[in-house]
Amino acid sequence: MRTLHSGCGGELNVAGTCDTCGKTVGREDEAWLLPWLSQEPVRLAMPTG
Ligand SMILES: [Zn+2]
Repeated sequence: MRTLHSGCGGELNVAGTCDTCGKTVGREDEAWLLPWLSQEPVRLAMPTG
């Protein structure tokens, strides 16, 4: 399983920082790529408000 930054599609490193854009990615901006379920990244949480 890979953790992606939903904002840019980059992959998160172990520090929780996006390897592509360099931002620290919060839980609300994470997406999980689950190849056995879907080709599309899965959002962990819906935006609030
Ligand atoms: Zn990013």
